[in-house]
Amino acid sequence: MPHVKRVPQRTCVGCGEVEGKRELVRFVRTPEGAVVCDPTGKRNGRGAYVHSDGDCLDRALDGRLAHALRCPVTPEDAEGLRQAFADLLKARQAKRPPQVHRAPEPLRLQPRPRRGAGRRAARP
Ligand SMILES: [Zn+2]
Repeated sequence: MPHVKRVPQRTCVGCGEVEGKRELVRFVRTPEGAVVCDPTGKRNGRGAYVHSDGDCLDRALDGRLAHALRCPVTPEDAEGLRQAFADLLKARQAKRPPQVHRAPEPLRLQPRPRRGAGRRAARP
């Protein structure tokens, strides 16, 4: 039998399901005590994983992430994490060929104007 490559498994703090690391987004508590999104998955610090899914993020930000990281997540932190999470998901979806993966679901995060689009004609 050929050697089977193992994908590291991590638990989503939002729903508690175990998933391959690549389907999850990592959050890290920095040594300074801030909670940040970690797109590379390589930052130092205590980490927690959340599915790349708005529902799981909502649940994670509703106390579970703070519990997993053993530090408070302020509303300001949570807002920053939502933004970073949305940006990361967009970047990931852009890299994936749509025919290989299921169609990306619309983000159920707060709508936000696209950078550089739609504003061009606003001012003369
Ligand atoms: Zn989840």
